[in-house]
Amino acid sequence: MRARHAAGAALLAAVAALTGCGSAPEPPDRPTAVVFTSPPLPAGAELLDTAAPVPPGSEQSCDDPTASLRPNGVTSGPTLDAIRRRGRLIVGLDTGSNLFSFRDPTTGRVVGFDADIAREIAADLLGDPELIEFRTLSSGDREQALQDHTVDLVAKTMTITCERKEKVAFSTVYLRADQRVLAMKDSGIGGIADLAGKRVCVVRGTTSLDRIRREQPAATVLTVPSWADCLVVLQQRQVDAVSTDDAILAGLAAQDPYTQVVGDSISAEPYGIGIPRDADDLVRFVNRTLERLRADGTWTRLYNRWLSVLGPAPTPPAATYED
Ligand code: GLU
Repeated sequence: MRARHAAGAALLAAVAALTGCGSAPEPPDRPTAVVFTSPPLPAGAELLDTAAPVPPGSEQSCDDPTASLRPNGVTSGPTLDAIRRRGRLIVGLDTGSNLFSFRDPTTGRVVGFDADIAREIAADLLGDPELIEFRTLSSGDREQALQDHTVDLVAKTMTITCERKEKVAFSTVYLRADQRVLAMKDSGIGGIADLAGKRVCVVRGTTSLDRIRREQPAATVLTVPSWADCLVVLQQRQVDAVSTDDAILAGLAAQDPYTQVVGDSISAEPYGIGIPRDADDLVRFVNRTLERLRADGTWTRLYNRWLSVLGPAPTPPAATYED
């Protein structure tokens, strides 16, 4: 009995030596009281430096930025032929933008208004709407991706502006949106005027950011990579509001019944398909597809399918041509 006890003690001593668990236990490395931490900000979130210069108005002059090249029946050309040789159309978009381009949770397919407009272009160009490769882009990457030719087209709620036309080309207008504000229903925020002294979430590289800085310089601005990030920080009460196009905000509001789109239009945001500047044949071809969508009822069908939360379908935006 004594021998067994001695063996047991030796074993315990050996285990203690190996594990370092000697006689006096270490104090627990844990807080003794429960501590609540605030939720972390999404990756890439940054508070805007208020000392940074406010960008000049994107209304910098050019006659009518929405005027684009006439289709002229163009069906071939250097860019169109290269895409046909490759056998698929490469389109940049956001894969987390409700209503416009997001993954259907059951099929994994990228669907939405922008995704379907892109499929119509692929159908006309390659004979099959599925001969398309979607590449994920954030708002701030759109112009560079077109300049670098890493995509053929950008179909991502992209506003046509004079500033952007210095770097990229656009199709005719395929949707008219307006910048507005999204806030919690109980917040008392009714529009941009109420954002003085409040925190607002906006995505970098957007017309929405420039506009909010110019129109409401008394707001504190949090910038994030995507509009889905803005919904998260609003839900976590890390900001008081989100400001961008009503069409995008409607997609966020549809995901959270405690939020609502408020206030009048802060600015008109005409959307165009972004195209590299040196690809006139592709600009004309995309405009040809958009003409078809306006005329054959497809535009209205896609609007009713994806954007009915915005109200009854308006008439499709008329094309303006520059030659
Ligand atoms: N329409 C705005 C823009 O082109 C915002 C859209 C977006 O971030 O996707 O900058």
